[in-house]
Amino acid sequence: MARFVFITGGVVSSLGKGIASASLGALLQARGYTVRLRKLDPYLNVDPGTMSPYQHGEVYVTDDGAETDLDLGHYERFTGVAAHKADNWTTGRLYLDVIAAERRGDYLGGTVQVIPHITDKIKEVIQADTDAYDFVLVEIGGTVGDIESLPFLEAMRQLANELGPQRSLFMHLTLVPYIASAGELKTKPTQHSVKELLGLGIQPQILLCRSDRPIPENERRKIALFCNVRPESVIPALDASTIYEVPIKYHEEGLDEEVLRHFGLSAYGEPDMTGWERIVHAVKQPEGEVTIAVVGKYTNLLDAYKSLSEALAHGGIAHNVKVNLDWVDSQIFESDAEAVARLEKVNGILVPGGFGERGTEGKIEAVRFARERKVPFFGICFGMQMAVIEAARNLLGIKGASSTEFGPCQEPVVGLLTEWQRGNEVERRNATGDLGGTMRLGAYPANLAEGSLVRDVYHGAASIRERHRHRYEVNVAYKDRLEAAGLRFSGMSPDGVLPEIVEYPDHPWFIGVQYHPELRSKPFDPHPLFSGFIGAAVKQARLV
Ligand code: GLN
Repeated sequence: MARFVFITGGVVSSLGKGIASASLGALLQARGYTVRLRKLDPYLNVDPGTMSPYQHGEVYVTDDGAETDLDLGHYERFTGVAAHKADNWTTGRLYLDVIAAERRGDYLGGTVQVIPHITDKIKEVIQADTDAYDFVLVEIGGTVGDIESLPFLEAMRQLANELGPQRSLFMHLTLVPYIASAGELKTKPTQHSVKELLGLGIQPQILLCRSDRPIPENERRKIALFCNVRPESVIPALDASTIYEVPIKYHEEGLDEEVLRHFGLSAYGEPDMTGWERIVHAVKQPEGEVTIAVVGKYTNLLDAYKSLSEALAHGGIAHNVKVNLDWVDSQIFESDAEAVARLEKVNGILVPGGFGERGTEGKIEAVRFARERKVPFFGICFGMQMAVIEAARNLLGIKGASSTEFGPCQEPVVGLLTEWQRGNEVERRNATGDLGGTMRLGAYPANLAEGSLVRDVYHGAASIRERHRHRYEVNVAYKDRLEAAGLRFSGMSPDGVLPEIVEYPDHPWFIGVQYHPELRSKPFDPHPLFSGFIGAAVKQARLV
């Protein structure tokens, strides 16, 4: 029977609750336990798929096609456990389910209310399919005190009461700020935040205290005294130079030991942290460095490309090099002819996923630069689509080559496909329906051509499965002409309808993929495309 750890946050947002949850998951695994991580988000969107990455950061996609909060990416990267649709619930999705049930007549005769109907639903989804795990970590989005998170906290309170302390634990992440004028760390915000939780009937057992400097023993004791926890359960969470050091730091501060002690599980021996130590060593003591230009649109909000920047770092870990990222707004190539000079200094060019027409001409210019100057190039999703449009325009001379994403066009090299196969079934996409939920989402197979670079990159695999999130497809009608001009379609959907991968055989490393490999990269298991790309950048760096 699974034990549940409920993770809340207080004082301010952005304290890194996702990383904290993921790190605790990793520590429990290092002690030999199995874990499942779940996230509850208090906003009304049914999923983050329709939210701007400017507001909410990247939309993370699972194998089963759910568009989820980016914290699920941290969970997967830290624990290697694949997340599912059932692991991310928003207020919107919960209400949608409850209201659908009400319309069906499931509650006929009853008054449908937040308590008990929404709270029961929350308890149900948290506990669904958890028997096979030793621990289920449930992160509650937002900050304690928000109106939106009240039903979640109430459901947690009830559930903890039902499960008893042997099977439940509350961990609260707070901030202990340093006030320069007083020259002191202040514990009052933590006290207030815990008081807020107590007012909701929740007594946290472990406090994880974010701070930019060590928390003196005296302050720890003070927090313990006022917040009603053991002094050993006041765990300092100091800023780390790399997120992959967080599990090690938490272990040194005794987090895993305190959690296990609470559950009455013997904490004899030490967890196996060698994997994490190896990663931190590679990050902190690289043997060289490469610079990759990431040519995109949302370059001023790094959270929009969270998995991407992590996957590039993983590629660096694989080669023991530091990967510097030069975030380039593609629009500079449209207004300034000299701007491409910026690309002369880099060892690789990456055009990531994106939506909408703005900045596309600049992205196409960046592709052209990479192709002509033989700079390692990696195009992801939209980046692949731009690479194909570039080839159609500049190699085939089809000047009007474009994507129907930008409106009707004469030469739809990238277009909207409304029907394709998934397994034995036909999937349909509606050209006019709601925008939410009309994309090709989740893991799909692709067959890799023999003798291709990409097959080599995937260590000889003949077929792969990767995660998708896009509405448009490269138009297979242009395949033969593009191949004759040198762009090889080296990965196709098994039915041969959807181009999945393109590459130039006469280029050191030029690959475009229709899917998002960054979503499956792990620090301890870098994605082959990212380690391949960074490997090519390392070679390029040594040549110049
Ligand atoms: N906008 C493109 C499409 O919908 C690419 C999406 C992406 O890069 N994720 O097909």
